[in-house]
This record gives sequence, structure tokens and C-alpha cells, in this order.
Amino acid sequence: VKPAPFTWSKATTIDECLGGLAADEDTKIIAGGQSLMPLMALRMARPAHLIDVNGLTELSRLGSRGGSTVIGALVRHAVVAADPALGARLPVLGAAARQIGHVAIRNRGTIGGSLAHADPAAEMPAVLMLLEARIMAASAARGVREIPAAGVVSSAYDTALEPDEMITWIVVPDPPEGTRSGFAEIAPRPGDYARMGVACMVTPRGRVRAVGFGSLPAPAEILDRTRLALPSTMDATECRRLATQWVSESENAPGDPMRRRLMITALTRALFGAMSGRPGVHGHRAAVRR
Ligand SMILES: Cc1cc2nc3c(=O)[nH]c(=O)nc-3n(C[C@H](O)[C@H](O)[C@H](O)COP(=O)(O)OP(=O)(O)OC[C@H]3O[C@@H](n4cnc5c(N)ncnc54)[C@H](O)[C@@H]3O)c2cc1C
Repeated sequence: VKPAPFTWSKATTIDECLGGLAADEDTKIIAGGQSLMPLMALRMARPAHLIDVNGLTELSRLGSRGGSTVIGALVRHAVVAADPALGARLPVLGAAARQIGHVAIRNRGTIGGSLAHADPAAEMPAVLMLLEARIMAASAARGVREIPAAGVVSSAYDTALEPDEMITWIVVPDPPEGTRSGFAEIAPRPGDYARMGVACMVTPRGRVRAVGFGSLPAPAEILDRTRLALPSTMDATECRRLATQWVSESENAPGDPMRRRLMITALTRALFGAMSGRPGVHGHRAAVRR
């Protein structure tokens, strides 16, 4: 299948890109093209004009500023997966990025594109929600506004972004020293989107946060408690109890709740079991048959 006809231009500045988006509602940004191009080839997306933002090299940078990590919207999944400084500050983000698709997809796909595409099974929106990141959205008419990551993805493939807005930067506050974090997902085969995944963190003061993604309407916070008793190792009964609580807290999700409960139980066991070791991240991935 071929895309519907479209025109293409390359932005050399952010302002040029924002001007193009403001001029025509049928204009879309193309970043890595890993989600937009397949949609266009299937004619499920028919933008009249594409603005290629790959020349905006300042948005490919990442660094730290005042207790936060600042990530440009064009940073590729492969960079998030492998950058040692980022891995030391936000290990759960790197662990999640390593589970995205295959190497060719991670080499092209961007963190901003993943947020804007808003696939409910995507890793990045869920982990950025877990880490309470703030998303900078710029437009020619209104300047820059800040959206909490939890408010970006409203439902599957739908976001709080306006058609004339571009994600420019993602600001992630450094978690408290000694925070443990974990990431686990179940997918039919390596490289496939997750059926169900969980990202979680436990701070030294006992704040336990978890975000689920996959067969949910959108990534969802499924747990945020302080001083939840977290034993050093979790047995199967405890994991089942926690998983049942999580599933009931995400009740309006589609699909079979029993199946979801089983998947979350397996993930929770693996995750909290691994997290009972030294601080840091312990990614885990299990493949299951359909
Ligand atoms: C075979 C395959 C397997 C995949 N598996 C996974 C997976 O397991 N997990 C996963 O999370 N993803 C997966 N992906 C998707 C991949 O992660 C994409 O890279 C990502 O979803 C979109 O990023 P992109 O840079 O390619 O965006 P594009 O495809 O260029 O754009 C996607 C959308 O975002 C908009 N957009 C892009 N950048 C911005 C911006 N800065 N501001 C505002 N809007 C913007 C575009 O206009 C478009 O609507 C897979 C893709 C393929 C083809």
C-alpha cells in the first residue's frame, strides 16, 4: 500500500517548524517515522504536508540541570537505552528503552515521537509517567507550556497536544538517592509490543509507585502509596494480593481481567523479587505464546 500524496519540507529551526504547524492543520511533524510512516502507508494517516525535524540537532541532546535530567524530543530510543550517564541517573528509563521493538526501530524512533504517538502499549509514556516527568510543548501562538507526563496521553493514540504544538524537551526530576526501580513486560515475541507491562519504583522513604501499560486504555498509574510494607522478598501470595489490588484499581481496562491479573502477578513477582537486591534497576522480560 502506498501513502496518499503529500509534500515534505525540512525545518532548520524550531520556530520554522512551529510556523509550519500553525499555518495548516493537515501538517504533521515527522521524527523517526517509525509509527507515522506505517500509518501513512496504510492510509490511516493522510497528512497533506510533513515537516522533517531531524535537522533540529539541539533537540537530540540530553543533559542534567538543577536536579533534573533534560531530554530533547529527538533523542533516539537507542541513545536512551545505552547512554551511561542517563542509565546511572534513570536506570528504569534505559531498561524500558531496551525493550522497544528491534534495533533498527530503536535507532530511528524518538522519545518525543513515542509520546506523541501515544500507543497504550508503548514503554516511554508509561515510564515517564512513573518518573513524574514534565513535557514541554511549544507552539507559535502560545509559546511553551508544561504538561505533566501523566496528562499527555489521554487515551489510545490520543494526546493533550494541540495540532500546532511540538514536544521540544522532556524534564525528568532525579529520583531520591537510593531509589530502587524495576521494569517488566510480557510480549508474544521479543521486539513485539507488550501485552502487559509494569514499571515501578520504591524510594528510601517508602513511597511505592507503579504504572501499568499494555492492554489498558492508556498507561495508568496503578499504585502510589507511602509506607506500603515491602518485604525483602515477595512470595507468590503477596504478589497475587498486590496484583489483585492493581487490577481492581484499573477495572475499566479492556480485555479479560483474569488474564490481566495473571500477567500482572507474574510481572510483580519477577519485579519485586529482583528489586529486593541492591538498589538500581533490574529489567526483566518474559515471552509467552498467544
Ligand atoms: C515493527 C515496529 C515495532 C515497534 N515496537 C515498539 C515497541 O515495542 N514499543 C514502543 O514503544 N514502540 C514501538 N514501535 C514504535 C517506535 O517506538 C516509534 O519510534 C515511536 O512510537 C514513534 O517515534 P518516531 O520518532 O518514529 O515518531 P514518528 O513516527 O515520526 O511520529 C509519530 C507521531 O508523533 C508525532 N511527532 C513526532 N515527533 C513529535 C514531536 N517532537 N512533537 C509532536 N509530535 C511529534 C508525529 O507527527 C506522528 O503523529 C515499533 C515500531 C515498529 C515499526
